[in-house]
This record gives sequence, structure tokens and C-alpha cells, in this order.
Amino acid sequence: MAKKKHVVPDETYWPGDIRDKSWYCPRHGCYQRRKVDDKCVVCYWEEQEAARIEHLWASLARDLWRRAKNRWRHDHFKFKTNEPFILAVEDIEREIPPDRKCPALGIPLVIVGGMEPVFRRTRPYPTWSWRLRRWGGDASPALDKFEPNKGYVPGNIAVISSLANRIKSNTTDPEVLRKIANWMERFKDKQGKLKA
Ligand SMILES: [Zn+2]
Repeated sequence: MAKKKHVVPDETYWPGDIRDKSWYCPRHGCYQRRKVDDKCVVCYWEEQEAARIEHLWASLARDLWRRAKNRWRHDHFKFKTNEPFILAVEDIEREIPPDRKCPALGIPLVIVGGMEPVFRRTRPYPTWSWRLRRWGGDASPALDKFEPNKGYVPGNIAVISSLANRIKSNTTDPEVLRKIANWMERFKDKQGKLKA
């Protein structure tokens, strides 16, 4: 039996010459391949990212629960609420939309929102680099209390996008929101007439 050669998992190699396109990755072109599984390095990176995002989706209910509990603890400490915290992680899991779209706005929910530039004050000179944004801004899922003063009670919660959550944060009356929408349309019409 031939002894298996030890390879470092992230060791890479170039399978051929740059002018020979037969070995290129069909999706990314001229990139190194990993020695362990003969995969293009960009394909491998994409796979890792997808796995990481899936992991974040799997831990979403727990994460939302922890943040809700911290907010409740803060309110409780300030005597803003006297209710016990009875919400369980399973209650939130049940509320996560299976199609991963915001039930209020219909936009796809995003947990990881692309790369953002970071500035670091390093020596001898400052540097710019990139980092993965953990939350997708307006499209990231948020735990909503339908009636804000009822608290985090199983029948009162929903998982919606943070944009919808912010729009809804000041009123639960659909009539008020409709009036605001009408006003926004009138305002835009007026602006359009001014421009024309
Ligand atoms: Zn590739």
C-alpha cells in the first residue's frame, strides 16, 4: 500500500500554463487549485461562505432570542416592564418565514450583506482591507413585537425585515401608515410638478 503523502489543506498549485485554457475553472477562469480536493480556490471560498451563511440562518432564532432577552433585561432593570420573559427559542423558530422573505414587504431577507471596507490605523502606515458584513442592513431579519406594549409574548411576535420593523416602530395602526403613504405620493407628485 502506497503511503499517503501529507498535504496542508490550503496548499495550492497551478495545474498548467496560463496560455493553456483547458484547465481553467469554468466559472472563475485562471485560479490555483487546492491540492487536497483539486478544487478552484474561488469555488472553495464561495462554498465556505455559503456554509457560513447557512450556519447563521440555523442560529438565527437563538440569536434573535438572545437580543430580545437582553432588551427585556434592560427594560426590567429600569422598571419599564414588570412582565416575566416567557419567550422560548422554539417560538421564534416557528415564526421564521420558510421562504426567507419579509412577510410585510416581500423582500428577500439577507443575513450577510456583502463586503465592506475597513480602515485600520496600523504602523508604519494605515491600511484599507475588506471584511464580510454580518448583517444585511435594511433586509436583515428582526424580531418584531406586533403590539409594542404587549412585550415578547408567543402570539405577539413576527420575524420581518428591519426596514419594515423600523417603519412600523412608531405605529401599529394600518390607517395611519396608509395616510402616510398617501402623503408620500402627494409629496412626490408635487416635487415632480416643480421639476417639470
Ligand atoms: Zn471556480
